[in-house]
Amino acid sequence: MTTFNAKQLANRGVRNLQPYQAGKPIEELERELGVSDIVKLASNENPLGISSKVRSALQDTLSGLARYPDANGFYLKSKLAKKFGIATNQITLGNGSNDVLELVARTFVNEQHEVIFSQHAFVVYPLVTQAIGATGVAVPAKDYGHDLDAMLAAITENTRMIFIANPNNPTGTFLTTEALAAFLAKVPEQVLVILDEAYYEYVPEQERAPSLAWLNDYPNLLVSRTFSKAYGLAGLRAGYMVSHPDVADLMNRARQPFNMNSLSLRAAEVALDDEDYLQQSVAVNAAGMEQLVAFCEKHGLNYIPSYGNFLTIEVGERAGELYQQLLHEGVIVRPVAGYELPHHLRVSIGLPEENDAFIRAMEKLL
Ligand SMILES: *Cc1c(COP(=O)(O)O)cnc(C)c1O
Repeated sequence: MTTFNAKQLANRGVRNLQPYQAGKPIEELERELGVSDIVKLASNENPLGISSKVRSALQDTLSGLARYPDANGFYLKSKLAKKFGIATNQITLGNGSNDVLELVARTFVNEQHEVIFSQHAFVVYPLVTQAIGATGVAVPAKDYGHDLDAMLAAITENTRMIFIANPNNPTGTFLTTEALAAFLAKVPEQVLVILDEAYYEYVPEQERAPSLAWLNDYPNLLVSRTFSKAYGLAGLRAGYMVSHPDVADLMNRARQPFNMNSLSLRAAEVALDDEDYLQQSVAVNAAGMEQLVAFCEKHGLNYIPSYGNFLTIEVGERAGELYQQLLHEGVIVRPVAGYELPHHLRVSIGLPEENDAFIRAMEKLL
């Protein structure tokens, strides 16, 4: 008999880690319930699918796949630098922004440190914190969003990092430029602020924070963005962090040498130039948001006003049951009980007919 005990061998932080709960894949629901014509509104994916430009760029890239990718992502970094007025040595590329969010923690945080994030904030923040064995400090939310004053008050001499999602997932809440600027001015320089802007492109231009310009004033600020949402490349995994060059240099030492593959690099380059697709994504999202908000108002359902590509709706105590019933109707949404929102469901904005399918199923079940 073996006494082998993997858990005992594992790092303390990893031992009790709860795995990330992804949205239910369409194939899995098909397999489990035999339902067809499934509508997935569970992972904030872009309902438009990839553009024809990305598709043909991917096809052109296939013949080179026997070779390793460009470890430094030269072309993608150059394009990002040009588009956003930053320097290439400020950029760390990642296998999705999830990768760079984890990388920053691995680069700067150890078991002695505390990491601050908000209640109801993106689950990856507590996950990466715990995996390292550091102490996560979840600050109670205010109106479902980040309470920046309370987060400032939570800073101690052990605090190494603060995660802020703007807009936040799964609540869709948004912090104004003024609120963020006032916050940054008060954070001590040895505390890194990670501003996660995964939904940046959905925010109306006049409301977007000048976050990349702030990097010139705040060397402890890092901004992450992704190609998974408005750019429609979730399945390829492409994201990046922009920071002070010294911070980027350290992160680039710690990352895997080929953490973006040839396909994701090329697709991201093409997507970045595809202004038409981006505008269409934003327009489809705005129309779908109106559709879902109108549905909520018609039925007197509370929802959290959202700046993202999803809406989190209060459905009451039967949220868990309703999620299951929706699955039987062929509609996958996201339960958010794990985010301390047991009475809500998060619904990603789909194409008009997908939103309709959700609305029809809800009207049947309510
Ligand atoms: C979706 C999301 C991300 C990005 O995920 P990747 O696909 O790994 O780029 C990052 N932060 C938040 C808050 C998100 O909702």
